[in-house]
Amino acid sequence: MPLAERLRVAVLGAGGRMGRTVAAAVASSADLELVAAVDPMNSGVELTFGGGVEPIVIGPDLDVLTATSAEVAIDFTAPRAAAANLAWLAANDIHAVCGTTGLSDAEIAELADAFSRSDGPNAVLAANFAISAVLMMRLAAIAAPFFENIEIIELHHENKVDAPSGTAVATATAIDQARLAAGSGTLGADPTTTETMPGARGARSEGGVQLHAVRLAGLVAHQEVLFGTTGQSLTIRQDSYDRSSFMPGVLLATRKVAATPGFTRGLEALLGL
Ligand code: NAP
Repeated sequence: MPLAERLRVAVLGAGGRMGRTVAAAVASSADLELVAAVDPMNSGVELTFGGGVEPIVIGPDLDVLTATSAEVAIDFTAPRAAAANLAWLAANDIHAVCGTTGLSDAEIAELADAFSRSDGPNAVLAANFAISAVLMMRLAAIAAPFFENIEIIELHHENKVDAPSGTAVATATAIDQARLAAGSGTLGADPTTTETMPGARGARSEGGVQLHAVRLAGLVAHQEVLFGTTGQSLTIRQDSYDRSSFMPGVLLATRKVAATPGFTRGLEALLGL
């Protein structure tokens, strides 16, 4: 593919765990060109990729995106940083792909608004870019109306700063919505009257799904959704063993975002689910 036809991509949070993996995935894709990498605390760090791919030096701020005519920016930073970055991208006509989790409903609503201009850029925001996780959420929504008790256990690496995970929240929301649409109503009240240790029963979604968060060295990103009814249960489990599991989804969104109008939440629409 001629160089001029390659999509010009920037990575925000390029010094982080996900950002480094995403930068390498973009740099090694023949149809994409990594034109900018941003991460204030890692500014000046050179990212090298091997295989004859040009290294790139991380920049301190978003101005490098306009200077390099980036067309799409991929954000894997931190919640408040991502909200500010995406608002800047909307104002500067650059498409956004965002995997950062922990944004508030109000921040997401503001971003949806910012990316809804008919002549403006588009955004794809997904709590989980792993195809297996997208399917896990869809399968959980299918199962949701048939059970009286539903609990989610999400398990992540020891450095994750937000809890419950964006995937767990998105799964609980999908379950709540599926039950509402099926007329199954909210789940039964939690029978616990005494928590001998506060927090033992975890968090609870609006529709009554209980959520629990595990943080453990050695893990990457994992989730179990447990469904129970009389005399039977169903467990759906998804595992991301490596950050590479997120890359096909991130690259798919990067390639499709320009042709996906407005603000899109989740990968489902892009996968035709
Ligand atoms: P991380 O290692 O802490 O990386 C985040 C990086 O962003 C850090 O280097 C951080 O720098 C930097 N940063 C902070 N503010 C910034 C800004 N304004 N502009 C540019 N860079 C900035 O975290 P991670 O494990 O890569 O995870 C990043 C996010 O992705 C988290 O929200 C995580 O939950 C999410 N995630 C999503 C998926 C998915 O599929 N959607 C998968 C995995 C992870 P400092 O550390 O110096 O602040």
